[in-house]
Amino acid sequence: MLTTKKKRRVCRVLEVRRLTESTAVLRFERAGLEFDPGQYIRVGIEDDPEIRDYSVYSGSNVDHLEVLVRRVEDGLVSKQLCDCDVGDSVSVGGPYGHFKLIDQLRDKPLLFVATGTGISPYHSFVESYPELDYRLIHGTAKMEEAYESTFYGDRYFHCVSREGGSDFKGRVTDYLRTLEVPPETNAFLCGNCDMIYEAFDLLQDKGLPAAQIHTEVYF
Ligand SMILES: Cc1cc2nc3c(=O)[nH]c(=O)nc-3n(C[C@H](O)[C@H](O)[C@H](O)COP(=O)(O)OP(=O)(O)OC[C@H]3O[C@@H](n4cnc5c(N)ncnc54)[C@H](O)[C@@H]3O)c2cc1C
Repeated sequence: MLTTKKKRRVCRVLEVRRLTESTAVLRFERAGLEFDPGQYIRVGIEDDPEIRDYSVYSGSNVDHLEVLVRRVEDGLVSKQLCDCDVGDSVSVGGPYGHFKLIDQLRDKPLLFVATGTGISPYHSFVESYPELDYRLIHGTAKMEEAYESTFYGDRYFHCVSREGGSDFKGRVTDYLRTLEVPPETNAFLCGNCDMIYEAFDLLQDKGLPAAQIHTEVYF
């Protein structure tokens, strides 16, 4: 992908919220970085050339930046970020990406679908635009991965594949199959590519045109 070179900033870590053993929300200084909700930034440890993409979790209306990071055991950068403490510094570049909620969509019915940390851009949407008419369907392996879901109230629906006790036992795509989707809906899909490909086809079969399905693939 062709990207223009953007200035990198050094930002001090202000807070670390450890949500599970392997997932944390990292809050750091915004340092004047402007972004549209849904976009991602490139983050790494200060002075380390290894950087990775993370959707901004916080709203565009607050004076800090947050990312939601899941530790990938055989990975490099996610572990370093999850192990950060308050007072450490990260380097941040961006913003990048087109996974945004343009003006014309903000009063339309919205369906947000995520797997795992793919919930992150929706947190930014909702914090930035509190009046949205949305449903959020979140698929995870375990119950504990509901990641600050009380923020979304009863608009949040949790599909858990490996344990009982959630709103739906199974994968997010199994639930989508059962769902009625009004034709004026705009759907957003974010997370792993298997879910996105399958959900895209399912939503098209339910009558949504491709132009109303927006995607962000993490891995
Ligand atoms: C646009 C975009 C936005 C992203 N936003 C987020 C985000 O908000 N939060 C977040 O945690 N990650 C996000 N990612 C993934 C992130 O960029 C890294 O790939 C991830 O943190 C692993 O980096 P690493 O250096 O630890 O592992 P690497 O050394 O880069 O990779 C190790 C392996 O892990 C795989 N992998 C990547 N992510 C996961 C995952 N979540 N679960 C299992 N395997 C994975 C990779 O495909 C690779 O095979 C995003 C990716 C993209 C492209």
